[in-house]
Amino acid sequence: MTNKSPADEMLQIDLCSGQVRVMLCETTATVQKCADIHETTPVCTAALGRLMTGTLMLGIMMKGENESVTVQIKGDGPIGSLTAVADHGDVRACADFPHIEIPLREDGKLDVGGAVGHRGRMSVIKDLGMKKQYIGQSELVSGEIAMDFANYFTVSEQQPSLVALGVLVSGEAVLKAGGLLIQPLPGCPDEIIDQLELRSPMFADISREMTFAPIEQLCEDWFRGMNPRILERTPLRYRCTCSRERMEKALISLGRKDLQSLIDEDQGAELVCHFCRSKYHFTTEELAGLIR
Ligand SMILES: [Zn+2]
Repeated sequence: MTNKSPADEMLQIDLCSGQVRVMLCETTATVQKCADIHETTPVCTAALGRLMTGTLMLGIMMKGENESVTVQIKGDGPIGSLTAVADHGDVRACADFPHIEIPLREDGKLDVGGAVGHRGRMSVIKDLGMKKQYIGQSELVSGEIAMDFANYFTVSEQQPSLVALGVLVSGEAVLKAGGLLIQPLPGCPDEIIDQLELRSPMFADISREMTFAPIEQLCEDWFRGMNPRILERTPLRYRCTCSRERMEKALISLGRKDLQSLIDEDQGAELVCHFCRSKYHFTTEELAGLIR
């Protein structure tokens, strides 16, 4: 009886003949996959989901083929540090402590800011290929993640931005997840910016709005009269890039002494990928091969 929910997707939209750039996405299946892999508690699902959704927006902005972006949040909350890596529409993420639980906020919502912490740093590392990197850093403003992304865009990229990120969770199920980014481009008239600010309460609870209508419909409703045009659509998914070869490189980087002690004391090694929990086993013979 139920329709299978549509696949995750990022819409790139312009408003008012190119004076405003908008990104609007659904990430429900992506966040569910992350929750399944890491067996997250609801508040950690929400934190990782918001982080992945924001990181995907940055990932979609990177145009070069071998470019990727990593966003790391290190706050003073119990979840520890959070990392997400987006490679265009592919994303993966992990947290130091994905099983922590904390009480709901007074308004009954998940306390993402309490889990992440209200003080700390957000780092954005853009890998431009050919060993070129751009690193931007900003202070956390709330730990709720959407405001932290908005602050990053404004402070580090000098691009004023409105960001909404939402994950609606019920136990282990991700009901809806998604996000919205609005960026008025240079020269955008004040009347348009005022209009967008006036409408911002409509976007505030984005994951709940998404339970009522697909994102194309929300785009029509929210930006009525502003001539919204969908310029590009990109499928989104949770995907890890680990491989046995990459794990071998990680082992080799340990150096001869540590590899030898793995052979002598541990009779082999088992490496677990932080992002997808895949296990890679290396026998002592294989480790000896790496030393050579
Ligand atoms: Zn992996």
